[in-house]
Amino acid sequence: MNQQLIEQIVGEILGQLGKESTQLPERAVPIAVSARHVHLQPDHVEVLFGAGYELTQRSELSQPGQFAANETVMIAGPKSSIERVRILGPVRKATQVEVSFTDAMKLGVKPPLRESGNIEGSAPITLIGPKGSVHIEQGLIIAQSHIHMAPSDAARFGVQDGEYITVEADGIRPISFRNVRIRVNERYRLEMHIDTDEANAGFITQGTIGRLVKLNETAESVRTQPAAVQSAPSAPVKAAAPQSFEFTKKLLSTEDLASISEDEIVITKGTIVTALAKDTARELGKTITIRK
Ligand SMILES: [Zn+2]
Repeated sequence: MNQQLIEQIVGEILGQLGKESTQLPERAVPIAVSARHVHLQPDHVEVLFGAGYELTQRSELSQPGQFAANETVMIAGPKSSIERVRILGPVRKATQVEVSFTDAMKLGVKPPLRESGNIEGSAPITLIGPKGSVHIEQGLIIAQSHIHMAPSDAARFGVQDGEYITVEADGIRPISFRNVRIRVNERYRLEMHIDTDEANAGFITQGTIGRLVKLNETAESVRTQPAAVQSAPSAPVKAAAPQSFEFTKKLLSTEDLASISEDEIVITKGTIVTALAKDTARELGKTITIRK
């Protein structure tokens, strides 16, 4: 067995143990990976597929009313093109094409990072269908990561529509996403949307669970954002808590670390500390000591 496989298996076992011992995860957010796709305005459907044509549904998407269409188009930039880019329905007011940074480099285009729907002044691109082609002067973007949620989820997490938060995803290659925008709507189902580059960076696959972290909530965010803390004196800064924390559970994971504000964590002789937790503790400037 190779080293990578062993690490993966050990990581998964420890992950399972962690889940059982801490009854996780109340801040859990399922992550969905969005591949490159196209939203079309009605007249562009007709140019690309013929007069009177309407999109046909291939499969439903997780957000109510949204669907992946059977239809695809080719998108072309100055450098190259990408075939079979999926169209998502229903039709929208303005055509919008969402690609990853990797796609953009291949196409030879420079789309801005934007929230879906905000395409003013974004990049141009050409769409080619079986019956015709459309060149749009704006509408090509790299989508800003975001979380869809219902008002009840927002209340539970203590967040508001439009707010930016951080999401951490622990895995073989742990990663944290900053500037993730919260989008609240009655019709939304709780789900974070990231693109394929973001997913690949963290070895994230469809359905991976992330953890929502509010800014200024962890010691890390306070430390790495001194300017923000200074300009907002009312922000919750780490309280002068007792110096050490007695940890009594069998397994110390990164999930536990996030909820411990003290700088010293005292564990018992039998406590297992995951490698990831050790690294995270070091990053957070926390020391782990064994009780004598
Ligand atoms: Zn979305």
